[in-house]
Formats: sequence, C-alpha cells, structure tokens
Amino acid sequence: MSMATSGISQVLVLLDRVNESLTGAQAELLTIAERLGDVSVVSGASAEAAAGPLSIKGVREVYVGEGEILPPDVALVDLLETAVKESGASVILGTDTPDAVDALARLAVRLDAGLITSATGLDTDGTVTKSVLAGERTTVSRAAEGPLIATVKPNIVEALLEGGAAPEVTALPVKPAPGFEVLETAELPKSGRPPLAEARVVVAAGRGVDGDLTLVEELADELGAAIGASRAATDAGWVHHSAQVGQTGVTVSPQLYISVGISGAIQQKAGMQTADVIVAINKDEDAPVFEIADYGVVGDLNDVLPQMVEELRARKG
Ligand SMILES: Cc1cc2nc3c(=O)[nH]c(=O)nc-3n(C[C@H](O)[C@H](O)[C@H](O)COP(=O)(O)OP(=O)(O)OC[C@H]3O[C@@H](n4cnc5c(N)ncnc54)[C@H](O)[C@@H]3O)c2cc1C
Repeated sequence: MSMATSGISQVLVLLDRVNESLTGAQAELLTIAERLGDVSVVSGASAEAAAGPLSIKGVREVYVGEGEILPPDVALVDLLETAVKESGASVILGTDTPDAVDALARLAVRLDAGLITSATGLDTDGTVTKSVLAGERTTVSRAAEGPLIATVKPNIVEALLEGGAAPEVTALPVKPAPGFEVLETAELPKSGRPPLAEARVVVAAGRGVDGDLTLVEELADELGAAIGASRAATDAGWVHHSAQVGQTGVTVSPQLYISVGISGAIQQKAGMQTADVIVAINKDEDAPVFEIADYGVVGDLNDVLPQMVEELRARKG
C-alpha cells in the first residue's frame, strides 16, 4: 500500500466493539490512521473497556457514549456524528465489517458525504484504492465533497503499534437508543483458528473434498490458517455457511489463499481474487481457478495435501 508517512488530517477511527485486545484488523486500521494524521477513536464500548486496549502511542483521544452503544443500536450513528463534530475529523475510517459499514453508511447520509467500502489503499492526498468488478479492476477515488469516509480491508499493511499512555476518554452525551434489547450474548466455541475475514492465510474447500475436511483442516492447522469454502461445500453442509467465500459470502484478501477442489466459478473468484498469492489444487487442468492462480497443482487433493502437510512438518523440524 502506498502511503507517505506525514499527515495533517484529523482522523477519526470507528472501533464499534473493543475487546481486551484489539483484533488484527483494528490494529491495522489504527496503523493506517496514524500515517494519515492525528488519530482519535470513537467506540461503542464502555469507557473502562475502551481505555486499556487503546493505550497506544498516537491515539490522542477516545470518544464513548453514556454506556455501551453496540451495533445494531442506531445511536451508534449519533455517537459517530457527535464525535466527528468534537474531533473536527476530515477522515473517518472503519474496519470492513458489516456493522461498521452500516454505521458509516448512515453517517455518510447525515453528513451528505460519500462512503468508500473495502478500500485496499489510502493515501495522504485523500485518494482511496479499491478492487471492483470481481477483482478485475481497481479504482482510485476520493471524496468530492465533505469528509472522506471509508472502510478498509484487512491484510493490507502490517500492524505496527506501540504502547503508549492511556488516552483521554471523553464520554459524549449520547445514550443507547430504546427500541431493542440484547437478551443474551453467547460466545461461540473457539476453533483456535483465526477469523476468516482477517486471516493472513486461508485454506478453502470445495466440492472436490467430497465431504471429508480432514486433510483441509490438517493443512490449515499447519499454516495457522482459517478455513473457507465454496458454496457447493457449504450448501452440502460440510462447512458452516459463515465460511462461504464469494459473491454471496465473505470477501477475503489474505496473503495466501489455497483453493482445494474448487472449480473457480466467477462468484467464488469475486470473494478471493484480491489475495496476494493464490494456490489452486484441482484434478482438472482446465478448471477456471487456474486462470487466476499464481501456483497451480493439477492432481488429486487426496495425494497433494498429505505431501504438503508432510513437507511443512519437515520444514518445521
Ligand atoms: C447468485 C449466485 C451466487 C453465488 N455465490 C457464490 C459464492 O459466494 N461462493 C461460491 O463459492 N459460489 C457461489 N455460487 C456458486 C458458484 O456458481 C459455483 O456453483 C460454486 O462456486 C461451485 O463450487 P465448487 O467449485 O466447490 O464446485 P464445482 O464447481 O463442482 O467444482 C469442484 C471442483 O473440484 C475438483 N475436484 C473434484 N474432485 C477432486 C479431487 N479429488 N482433487 C482435486 N480436485 C477435485 C473438480 O475438478 C472441480 O473443478 C453462486 C452462484 C450463484 C448463481
């Protein structure tokens, strides 16, 4: 990603939820923001929850509401709007998650501004790069009027944050909106694998695995990868729907995407074509996935994957 290192803008970063430690995508977003200008953060988390993980060099101020204001609470948009006024921000950034896109789109309407989603590059001159047309083209755009509002894809920079003093936390006079109540928040069982949308390595399974994920899981675990899937694999019930990569699933842009037994239909490509390196394993040498693969292995996945796992283990000693 091309970006100069000096900045003069006031940059407001939306981190709607903040856990004990920042996610990889949040840390990357703050790294990008720091290169663009003076950073403040607005969060729906409580003041206590937000201060700890945001004790980062370069984060000047953290704005919160009166109590937790978490998606889908529309008061998050009031909080954002108030924080924009308080901070004087001319650049407003969020992670490329549905919740952040939803809140920032509503903010853009209020501010009569535009919203650029899924950015893959941001420059100090205010230009934003993104991939369009199922990864066939890239566009460079900028805000013609009003502030620049954008959501940024994960895995486009290395997160480089230094710990710092606790930021000043300002509670803005915004209350959670009535209208819904969160009755329960349940933590899903942890797979031990990174979240798909922000994983640096993804191993994706298609119909070719024929219902048996063992080899794909073994390879993923050797690489510390997330598991993705084609729609054929999720529709068959072999992999949970949340792992579907593609036009109607998750869009991923990892450093490495290993496609296993996936033909490479246009709808699948739409979700993974911006990966830095694509490795395809398919027994059909004419499979369309080879058109976009950087490295292709023509072969039966049942022969290829065990060799890959063995080689990785040997290299690890
Ligand atoms: C509106 C719409 C939205 C869609 N959205 C999505 C989406 O978001 N994501 C998505 O993925 N699809 C989506 N699809 C479906 C898409 O068109 C394809 O049908 C789907 O991607 C095919 O999945 P697949 O490649 O796993 O299966 P197939 O196309 O059946 O391909 C299986 C591949 O596995 C190979 N293979 C078989 N056995 C082996 C083996 N032993 N070793 C190695 N290779 C083997 C075969 O050669 C073949 O290339 C959408 C379709 C529509 C119409």
